[in-house]
Amino acid sequence: MSNDNARHEDARAIRLGRRLRTLHRCNRMFFAARSEQELLQSICQILVSGDELRLAWVGYGEDDADKTVRAVARAGHGVEFLKQVKISWGGDEPAPAGIAVRTGEACRIDGILADPAAGPWRSAAVAHGFDSCIAVPLVAHSHQAGVIDLRGALTLCTAERGAFDDGAIDFYAELATCLTHAVTVLRGNLAGELTHDVTALRAAEERRRAEDALRKARIDLERVMQMTAMGEMAASIAHEVNQPLGAIVSNGNAGLRWLGNATPDIEEARAALKRIVADGHRAGQVIAGIRSMFKKDGQLTGPQDMNELVREVLRLVRGEVAGQGISVRTELSDELPRIAVNRVQLQQVIANLVMNAVDAMSAVVDRARVLRLKTGVDASGALLIAVEDTGIGIDPGDFDRIFDPFYTTKSHGMGMGLSISRSIVEIHGGRLTVARGEPHGAVFQVALPTGIGTGR
Ligand code: ADP
Repeated sequence: MSNDNARHEDARAIRLGRRLRTLHRCNRMFFAARSEQELLQSICQILVSGDELRLAWVGYGEDDADKTVRAVARAGHGVEFLKQVKISWGGDEPAPAGIAVRTGEACRIDGILADPAAGPWRSAAVAHGFDSCIAVPLVAHSHQAGVIDLRGALTLCTAERGAFDDGAIDFYAELATCLTHAVTVLRGNLAGELTHDVTALRAAEERRRAEDALRKARIDLERVMQMTAMGEMAASIAHEVNQPLGAIVSNGNAGLRWLGNATPDIEEARAALKRIVADGHRAGQVIAGIRSMFKKDGQLTGPQDMNELVREVLRLVRGEVAGQGISVRTELSDELPRIAVNRVQLQQVIANLVMNAVDAMSAVVDRARVLRLKTGVDASGALLIAVEDTGIGIDPGDFDRIFDPFYTTKSHGMGMGLSISRSIVEIHGGRLTVARGEPHGAVFQVALPTGIGTGR
């Protein structure tokens, strides 16, 4: 490639890049402009903002006697030029703008300085140093035959001879076509319709997004609920099965000790093994109970003596309670009706309340640690079981939160006990509530409807 050719190629590449940038900026303006005037003026300004063009202007062909091309937008050097000349789109007009308006074809004039022929526009052009000039038509035909909606031209002037090659003409003609379309849209208030469409599209898009978010939130919620249910089940199993498992291990150890003595004590070992079997059964019952809790009909196990159930729980937790120096008081009503409940589940509830009471009193050193269990029937006929302690108590502001799954203030707590207990009580049609103890501690109360009982 010769040096000339290389230079030519470079210049072409630069021009192409510049035109692409211009096109890009114009394109944005086609959509952004709010009025025809703003559109035309902005396009002229964009066109002269590169260093290729000196003047850009848009003229509309008037239907007056002189067939005037009236400048409606202009930008660049030498805008006075437009005040000095009168351009017409009538038959004998030699100016490119007039020709483009009349013929609807692009018109190019090159080397004006070398051929300063007579005529006002030519001398004015020369005076402003314009050497080449093109005009591309802005013509839009109406849907009605023979009616022209827009009759105008975009004219570009530069000091550089030969600046407008065929490629340039194609480029600016294409730009003019787009500009014509944009003007038509703005005029026909199609813009309004477009804006309306865009608004409608945006609304639809936003609705779709909101629906997506809602769907996702629902899926997340379901997942959390499933996890909570699974977590409750697992936590509940761990909580309840740990106790008999612990007892099995210590009885197993005791049995081994009895057998490992110089004179093995078979009777003690047999007793330890019996306790192991009983605890094994209890663990099995707990699991069966938990499973039934997750079945819809959570079987009731026939009329139960709730006083007996309370005593049973106290027997189970005897070791823990004694180990903490807690005194136990019971006030169990003789008038208690038997009610049909799921025995293992209710046992689980009372055991959980008792263990919480034990925990709450473990930090208490300046007063008696007292655990009180009461049963009775209230005025409405509901069977009440209350578990009272003299522990650290609960801030009334936390009365609701403590029933939330995973709410715990204990370093090794799961925060599931109260949540599971409340669901069990509610499955039985009852209520589990909390109140402040007087003068210290907390009072948890289970209220069960006696109407569901069969043994009144
Ligand atoms: P966890 O015992 O694993 O913490 P719970 O659901 O049984 O789970 O209890 C939740 C929380 O409620 C406890 O961590 C504790 O802060 C509070 N709480 C429950 N019972 C008592 C009580 N008798 N006295 C004081 N706080 C209690």
